[in-house]
Amino acid sequence: MPRLDDLLDAITRYQPDADVDLIKKAYLFAAKAHEGQKRRSGEPYLTHPLGVAIILAQLRMDLATLVSALLHDTVEDTSVTLEEIENRFGDEVRNLVDGVTKLGKIKFTTSEEAQAENFRKMIMAMAQDIRVILIKLADRVHNLRTLEAMPEDKQMDIAQESLDIYAPIANRLGMQAFKIEFEDLSLKFLKPDIYRMLDEQIRNRRDKREKYIKQVVKIVEKIMTENSVPCEVSGRHKHYYSIQRKMESQKIPFDEVHDIIAFRILVDSLQQCYEALGLIHSLWRPIPGRFKDYIAMPKANNYQSLHTTVIGPEGERVEFQIRTHKMHEIANHGIAAHWRYKEGKGGAKSRDEMKFQWIRRLLEWHSELKDPAEFLDTVKLDLFADDVYIFTPKGELRELPRGSTPVDFAYAIHTEVGHCCVGARVNGKIVPLSYQLHSGDSIEILTKKEMRPNRDWLSFVKTSKAKAKIRQYLKQEEHQQSQQVGRELLEKACHRFGLSVSKVLKDPTVEKYLQDHHLRDGEGLLSAIGYGKILPMELLRLVAPKETLEEKKEVGAESTLTKWMRKITGRSADQVKVRGVSDVLINFGGCCNPVPGDPITGYVTRGKGVSVHVSDCSKLLATDPDRRVHVEWEKEIPISRIAKIRVLCVNRPGMLQAMSEAITSQGVNIAQATARSTEDQRAINTFDVEITGIEQLRHVIKSLERVKGIVSVERVRE
Ligand code: MN
Repeated sequence: MPRLDDLLDAITRYQPDADVDLIKKAYLFAAKAHEGQKRRSGEPYLTHPLGVAIILAQLRMDLATLVSALLHDTVEDTSVTLEEIENRFGDEVRNLVDGVTKLGKIKFTTSEEAQAENFRKMIMAMAQDIRVILIKLADRVHNLRTLEAMPEDKQMDIAQESLDIYAPIANRLGMQAFKIEFEDLSLKFLKPDIYRMLDEQIRNRRDKREKYIKQVVKIVEKIMTENSVPCEVSGRHKHYYSIQRKMESQKIPFDEVHDIIAFRILVDSLQQCYEALGLIHSLWRPIPGRFKDYIAMPKANNYQSLHTTVIGPEGERVEFQIRTHKMHEIANHGIAAHWRYKEGKGGAKSRDEMKFQWIRRLLEWHSELKDPAEFLDTVKLDLFADDVYIFTPKGELRELPRGSTPVDFAYAIHTEVGHCCVGARVNGKIVPLSYQLHSGDSIEILTKKEMRPNRDWLSFVKTSKAKAKIRQYLKQEEHQQSQQVGRELLEKACHRFGLSVSKVLKDPTVEKYLQDHHLRDGEGLLSAIGYGKILPMELLRLVAPKETLEEKKEVGAESTLTKWMRKITGRSADQVKVRGVSDVLINFGGCCNPVPGDPITGYVTRGKGVSVHVSDCSKLLATDPDRRVHVEWEKEIPISRIAKIRVLCVNRPGMLQAMSEAITSQGVNIAQATARSTEDQRAINTFDVEITGIEQLRHVIKSLERVKGIVSVERVRE
């Protein structure tokens, strides 16, 4: 049974200053999460993630990978959430665990077609972070090693899948050691008879083989030393699966399988590889056609080595693999060798570059299999249950949660891009910002510098980043606007009594007032006034003598004063801008329902921001003039508002359709429509239409008036 100490020992061997506490923390976290769970063997479940982490530590993987390995089954099998993992272990670990969990949900079947598809999924997952696959491979290795305890049908399934999917993937990633383990362990369960036979034969011949190996090693070492080529020579039987395949493909019994023994010569330099090759060929006659130079022409998985088969002592065919120590390292552990913890270097940047290189290569390998068009076409299929993959204009791949929109994508690129996005082009076509992205979509975001986040976006964005950034922006904007409103209200009141705002704010009694009301500073005060929580008069009473407030009360009518004030202060630039429903601070009077282009006035409500009304709205006119503020429509940004139109028409078939067409012909969307017939054979229809301004509304009304059978058209404001 693996123990925590085994893991810690393995780590400190290659990373002496590793954050052991973090590993312990992850171990305890996993222990608690899996508490009470047992593996089929009866062992505590925890032995599995621990075993996986140890396998990865033997590959000398970085700390995040090991922590994620310890946690890799918590989200799938326990009540632990990704959020918890992120809070405790950060987003790197969270993403790795998430990736492994998702990969675990891919079900492989043995049909070739499904395999190709799943292979693609693996490739795409690798493109995100190769460590996800490494954890998954280690997970599978550990499961195979402990497969004995599983029921037989489960054993067969897992073994077959390992052979069909995991071994080729390990091979593609250049991870020879994993590949061999997948193949041999799978064989053991899939063809137990053959496996037992091979095992027996190889064991029976062990003494003879060892003797032979010793003999060859001695000869090779001698000639290498004489020629000053320092090397390490070793020999071993080939792995069971490759012997079995030979027997099967050549239809021969074990006894007739040649070159069961393979020798490996490890040297220091590339030059020495060729020197060693020459020396081997001078000792024994090479078999024509069996020499392969994978150094000059590396395999797709980066494997480099010289291969040659010669007629060795006693007329035996033996294979020699000659490579440098470094090439050997990569041959065994492939991509994992690139991801190793590297002392003193290996910062995020060089790792990213490495990652990028490998991704490119992975995708290249993949396109070798099938033509690119077909590849892209299948990528468009849903890849993961809850993710979509999309392409940037530069052809880079991005992963987003299913249901993500162009706005999510824009925020994923950069907060500024998100804030300023006005539209998107998907596969060359303009789409609404609420469009749901599909895997394989190629997306381009259109931005406009003046554009600002819209509150509506919150109703359709999917990613937490987009949500948080939009909220943050709106909050900040709300805060600024409330200050502007507050300042305007205070100025208005001050001017009325001939007082100065800055003097009022600096008055010691006001400072005490701030403290008493838990307001941080003058800005906080203005903001509170803007929200209608504090009335300006309340403040003025503190600083001005009673007589002042009374004496000047009569001066000037409200409207004149406001106008005059605006003239001299020229503050129109920083007036409250109405940006449609996007505003938090601003809401529209349901009574008059203003649309862009209508003259408007704001009214500061108690604690609910500014209520915007058409300037001559009867409800507005009934309010306290002291609390009215100047507002204006944002001109830079199109604002969509709902306007209500009432149409009286003759009641006959086809009218509703004719009216709808009249509206939509103006490029206007109908949000809602109702119709009711009257006793005098007429019908009253109301349409809620989405318009961007008063001009457009006029066009819609004109267009409706041209329809035959229409009696009257009017805009409804109540
Ligand atoms: Mn697992």
